[in-house]
Amino acid sequence: MKSVIDIPDLSVEEIDELIKTAGDIALHPEKYAKSCEGKILATLFYEPSTRTRLSFTAAMMELGGNVLGFSEPGSSSAVKGESVADTARVVSCYADIIAMRSPKEGAAFVAAKNATIPVINTGDGGHAHPTQTLGDLFTIYREKGRFNNLTVGFCGDLKYGRTVHSLIEAMSRYPDVRFVLISPDALKLPTFVKYEILARHNVLYTETDSLEEALPSLDILYMTRIQKERFTDPAEYERLKDSYILTVEKLASAKSDLCIMHPLPRVNEISVKVDKDPRACYFKQVENGKYMRMALILKLLASAKENPETEDLLAGRSVLINEMKCTNPRCITATEQELDHVFRVVDAEAGICRCVYCEKKVKADSEMMKRVVRR
Ligand SMILES: [Zn+2]
Repeated sequence: MKSVIDIPDLSVEEIDELIKTAGDIALHPEKYAKSCEGKILATLFYEPSTRTRLSFTAAMMELGGNVLGFSEPGSSSAVKGESVADTARVVSCYADIIAMRSPKEGAAFVAAKNATIPVINTGDGGHAHPTQTLGDLFTIYREKGRFNNLTVGFCGDLKYGRTVHSLIEAMSRYPDVRFVLISPDALKLPTFVKYEILARHNVLYTETDSLEEALPSLDILYMTRIQKERFTDPAEYERLKDSYILTVEKLASAKSDLCIMHPLPRVNEISVKVDKDPRACYFKQVENGKYMRMALILKLLASAKENPETEDLLAGRSVLINEMKCTNPRCITATEQELDHVFRVVDAEAGICRCVYCEKKVKADSEMMKRVVRR
């Protein structure tokens, strides 16, 4: 049995297979209308995210299955202090698959470790939101017919935007992909993404603060929201905010087959007038996200049937267990009782490790590194 916590949990082959299934569902929805008859999806949403929850609910209903769950922690036993691990065990008795959203980073990982049914992470704090990325990938595939040989521009908040980091990670695995990173200085792509993803995959990228200059070279433009509260200097926000708004005028210099994407919700970073342009793909992205969620539900239910054993999420990894404590206050280890503090080794020579729940980076000393365990 398999759970999906983050995009790297899926191989390129598995993503290809999901895209194939999603494409078939989009063409022949009637073929799948009874595929999940008698199956139950539990949507456990510890923080409200109406959009994602509706997408999962629609996905399961269109497969002929049922949905139960809660949409905010106030209506669950979380207010009584029940752990994520216990909730996952309890819900495993009622449902066949779990979709979990939590503000705590690593919550879905803990759920997957304890549930006896597959778990899909539908967002854990600032950490991961893999089904958004799967929908983004399906959109690129439907619009371009390929993942290789593309110039992809990311515009806006590249520092905090987890959808951006996740799509960069997913696209970096394909050949001849180039990135153009368009952002103000204060919101540039973090160095860890540059070193641990772009450099590792040898991906070419350029950085600019001008959307207008970057536009003509792009095959795909991924827009994001710039939030005022991310700026330390309000004057800088006022000075920059309009330069990252996509307008009909700016689009005049873009390619005729440009694909414009946005994870939504939009505030004002894409002019409403752009919606009528055939290059606008952000509402198609919503529908594509639903098809990919349907494909993922089908795949995970089939894999759970084939192999009911809960998978070891750390299999094949070199880890340090309870040698250090994760200090990220948003990490699930900060609140869930008696949880092992586990770090995976990223760079053995330098002693660089990351928390398996929230990805927080720590440095282990040479004595600790002698106690690394291979799972
Ligand atoms: Zn952590």
